[in-house]
Amino acid sequence: MDQTLRNDQQNRKQLLETAVREAIAFLDNLPTQPVAMNPGTRHFENAWHLKLPANGAGTIEALAQFTTRYGPGLSGSAGPRYLGFVTGGATPAALLGDWLAAVYDQNVAANEDSIAPQVEQETIHLLRQMFGLPSTFWGTFVSGATVSNLVGLAQARQWAALQHGIDAAEEGIYSLEPLPVLSATPHSSIYKALAMLGMGRQVMPIPTLPGREAVDVTALAQQLQALEGQPCVVVGNAGTVNTVDFDDLQAISRLKNNFNFWLHVDGAFGGFAACSPRYTQLVAGMETADSITIDAHKWLNVPYDSAMQFSRHPDLQLAVFRNAAVYLGPTSADETPGLVHWTPQNSRRFRALPAWMTLMAYGRTGYQDIVERNCAQAEWLGQQAADSVQFRLLAPVNLNVTCFTLAGEPTMIQVQQILARLRDDGRVYLTPTQYKGIPAMRAAFSNWQTEMQDAEICWQALQDAMY
Ligand SMILES: *Cc1c(COP(=O)(O)O)cnc(C)c1O
Repeated sequence: MDQTLRNDQQNRKQLLETAVREAIAFLDNLPTQPVAMNPGTRHFENAWHLKLPANGAGTIEALAQFTTRYGPGLSGSAGPRYLGFVTGGATPAALLGDWLAAVYDQNVAANEDSIAPQVEQETIHLLRQMFGLPSTFWGTFVSGATVSNLVGLAQARQWAALQHGIDAAEEGIYSLEPLPVLSATPHSSIYKALAMLGMGRQVMPIPTLPGREAVDVTALAQQLQALEGQPCVVVGNAGTVNTVDFDDLQAISRLKNNFNFWLHVDGAFGGFAACSPRYTQLVAGMETADSITIDAHKWLNVPYDSAMQFSRHPDLQLAVFRNAAVYLGPTSADETPGLVHWTPQNSRRFRALPAWMTLMAYGRTGYQDIVERNCAQAEWLGQQAADSVQFRLLAPVNLNVTCFTLAGEPTMIQVQQILARLRDDGRVYLTPTQYKGIPAMRAAFSNWQTEMQDAEICWQALQDAMY
């Protein structure tokens, strides 16, 4: 064995203790460190300077080099005032689970050698209860909501092609007419998933209700009528990016009595409305979907990268994702095939462990608390924007995102200037957006550590950035 490797093997305890010290220092500093930083535009070029060492320096020295080179450039996305992406951070239990997932290093692909696949299925079972989904839903972990959308839409494509007598997984979709996909305000990753599936970035836009991002169900029914029974896909959106608006999933599912469509629900973070009696009505009807996307690295507050995909059609899912080889076990639904046969990945990380840990550690009330606290913060910030002369609230705060802009008719440049100033100030991080054509900003609350005081700091920083 290489001598440096041998040394590290013998110093394992010291190395792990170093990691613990490093982690504690990072987490302790999170609330006071700049929340985000500007990496500049030359990072690829800069990243091509480092020489691969002929002889490694060992872990302690590598860590020292890393923290010197990159420590100051890390963002505070795990902390309480990163309101850019719906990032969530990691609860203590999730973090511990994630560390141990690396320690255990299970390959959660086949059922042959480890209990880990069973832990994944148990975690899915816990999550079904949290989201009010019946046990007719199968579920697995994937790397994020984009891949979850891909898995759902791949099954939809399989389903639709079968109605034309084509097994798309075997024959491809070359002989088929385009499969219509209908949606009002889909997330950009729906287009990406469609592109990956060979269906093209083609969505039939359905009008929204006036002043809303939610679908006009009457207009949807008319469009379905016009398709004259041709199989199609409806993407229901449970939590849009800008205003966290929800399609009326119950009304959409009633359309199933008359029309021939697959209902895929994208509830990447909106699905967590189910955690609070105050908001659960927003996702009523989600349980009637054919496939559902919900992220774990957002509001479940597990580390990147993790999401769930749920489906009521295991046969279709296996038809698409089976990876037949004798050593990978059975592939038909009645023989409970290994998880390798369910999603794009073959080898899979033990992603369920952080989720299992955090669900068991905090339970229903823990998640109700996180969701309700974050929503109250978004609501409070929205009220400040609505009452202010410098800002303008653009939409009611439906859940955990505040969508607002500068007073008057701001240009995107003006919005970006304020947001850049805010980022460089370091107290808080928000992202720009465009809502109904208006350049805007959004503050997304999704971190278990965020307190009302953080919303107040955010508001103060916003006002300071105006001068
Ligand atoms: C974040 C998000 C996605 C994409 O999620 P990733 O986990 O980044 O792949 C998809 N849909 C919605 C509604 C989202 O909010």
